[in-house]
Amino acid sequence: MAILDWFKEVPLSAVLKEKLVGLENENAALKSENAAQKILLEQCQEQRRALEKQITEEHNNPLTFDEKTGTWIGSVDGLRYCANCKSKNISSPLKNENHGWRCPSCDKYFDDPERPKPKINRGPSDWRTA
Ligand SMILES: [Zn+2]
Repeated sequence: MAILDWFKEVPLSAVLKEKLVGLENENAALKSENAAQKILLEQCQEQRRALEKQITEEHNNPLTFDEKTGTWIGSVDGLRYCANCKSKNISSPLKNENHGWRCPSCDKYFDDPERPKPKINRGPSDWRTA
C-alpha cells in the first residue's frame, strides 16, 4: 500500500471509530430497553394466566353473591368465597369456623347470621349496676 493511500485511510477510520462508538452506545440502550420490555411482557403474561385461570374457575363454578353474609357461594362446589379477595381477582374459599367463616388468604372474618355468637355473660351485676 502506498504511503499516500495509508494517510487517506486514517481520517476515514477515525470517522468509522466514532460511528462504531455511537452504534455501540445505541446497541447498549436498545439492549436495556429490550430487557425492560421482556420484564413487562412477563408481567403481562403472568396477569393473563391469572385472569384465564379465574375465568375458567368462574366458568366451571359460577359464584353468586350472598347478601346476608357478604360472601360469594360457588354454585357447583357450594363453598363460600372471600368477597375481599374476589375484589382483587383471587378466589379464596373460606374456612368454616364456629360462628362464621375466615379467609385463609387475607384473614377477613365473615359472620354467619344463622350461627350467632352467644352473648358474653359477665354476671348479674354487670349491666344492672352500671
Ligand atoms: Zn380473603
